[in-house]
Amino acid sequence: MHQFIDGQFQTGASGRKLDIINPATGESVETVTLAGRADVDQAVAAARAAFPSWAAATPGERSTVLSRFARLLAEQAEDYAVAESRQTGKPLRLVREFDIPGTIDNADFFAGAARNLEGKATAEYSPDHTSSIRREAIGVIGSISPWNYPLQMAAWKILPAIAAGNTIVLKPAQITPLTSLMFARTLQEAGLPDGVVNIIVGDGSEAGAALMRHPGVDMVSFTGSTTVGRTVLEAAAINSKRVHLELGGKAPFVVFDDADIEAAAHGAVAGSLINTGQDCTAATRAIVHRSIHDTFVARVAELYRDIRVGLPDDEDTDIGPLASYAHRDRVAAMVDRARNYATIVTGGSTPGDLLAPGAFYTPTLITGAAPDSEIVRDEVFGPVLAVLPFDSDDEAIALANDTPYGLAASAWTRDVYRSLRATRDIKAGCVWVNDHIPIISEMPHGGVKESGFGKDMSTYSFDEYTQVKHVMFDITGTAHKDWHRTIYKLR
Ligand code: NAD
Repeated sequence: MHQFIDGQFQTGASGRKLDIINPATGESVETVTLAGRADVDQAVAAARAAFPSWAAATPGERSTVLSRFARLLAEQAEDYAVAESRQTGKPLRLVREFDIPGTIDNADFFAGAARNLEGKATAEYSPDHTSSIRREAIGVIGSISPWNYPLQMAAWKILPAIAAGNTIVLKPAQITPLTSLMFARTLQEAGLPDGVVNIIVGDGSEAGAALMRHPGVDMVSFTGSTTVGRTVLEAAAINSKRVHLELGGKAPFVVFDDADIEAAAHGAVAGSLINTGQDCTAATRAIVHRSIHDTFVARVAELYRDIRVGLPDDEDTDIGPLASYAHRDRVAAMVDRARNYATIVTGGSTPGDLLAPGAFYTPTLITGAAPDSEIVRDEVFGPVLAVLPFDSDDEAIALANDTPYGLAASAWTRDVYRSLRATRDIKAGCVWVNDHIPIISEMPHGGVKESGFGKDMSTYSFDEYTQVKHVMFDITGTAHKDWHRTIYKLR
């Protein structure tokens, strides 16, 4: 029973089953029956039916549900941590200290945002009229999320949408649906009316595509690869749906010659290995001044070799497996191809012994790859960092921007002028200075260029899930108004 539609769990209509595999052990965690078109139709119908009354709830009523949800999530944190870790292979430490507190904070944030509708002041912008702005919910949101942060992605998709009065059908990645289903159940316990949040567990090409094309959906919100994002954009054109796309990334990590090299090395290790590198903002291209390149590479290699690759429930584990065997093999194949044109300084292997049954891969540091090589240009989405040298600040910025992506970047320098120029010139949705990765509920997350458009988190995200309506009142009370003269004269 893995479809959550109109407040009920039910079995998927496709009849096809899928085992949810723990990538740390290869064991099946649960078996789901995937959704078919009929489930998508039913979920969209439930969301449409629930929309009028949820949109009419006061901001305070919506906020109360989200606040209660945040408290329940804190109480149920350990159940969520175990489920998230089992379906993704994430270390429990990461889930407990990053995914769960971040999600609770997001819920608290959107509970507040729900009560803060903003717009231009009501006023007489023409002498004969009073204009006002209404900020309204959009309708039914069709959302699709990826497998790298299933719980946080559910939060980023669901919370701003329902805080603003929309209803939603979310299709999580089919290999990691469990915490999205738990999320919907906890919202129900918090008092969310049936039909406001519906979860469909199905294949992207079938249930996902049907949801994106569905005429009953008013807006699509997609997080995933740039390739699938393009098909979502095409599907949305069918009935001119509003679109929100959070796509791939290939974040540059620029280290100038005046940087604190020790801080940059630690930043590169944490920034590239978070979530085993399966993070769209992860540092993937370290662009390092030639004068400090070798020192930086040596220190990162040393730290990489000390990283504990291990089982998710071991407190000493730093990074767990990749989220699936297919993905691990894809990462390994990219590194293997890089051996022909670059140097693998450390890593590039699959660990044996206890870890052999899992989808593990060692932290891999690569030097000597050309800026146009596959490992530097394409998204690897694994624990792999390529280091490139530069000679001038202009060259560093050009290399940072030499990518179709523009999600996130960082600049490492102690020179305030350099940091200001770098943050101005690097084309990305977020630029960190002397750090890489931290996110906060109050600030927007989202890309430019082929990393998509639209923002998650923050009030910018809340705004995306609302639309403004101009309401204009005549205040003269006259029959033949002044402006009518431009059309016809009174004779
Ligand atoms: P993916 O694009 O393969 O899949 C994402 C989702 O789309 C899944 O739920 C999948 O079932 C669905 N899907 C697949 N084909 C579809 C289709 N034809 N129509 C509709 N839906 C379809 O991505 P992934 O491999 O799950 O996730 C990794 C990607 O996500 C990376 O590119 C990563 O950078 C990106 N990502 C981006 C952000 C961001 O905020 N920008 C955050 C996390 C992940």
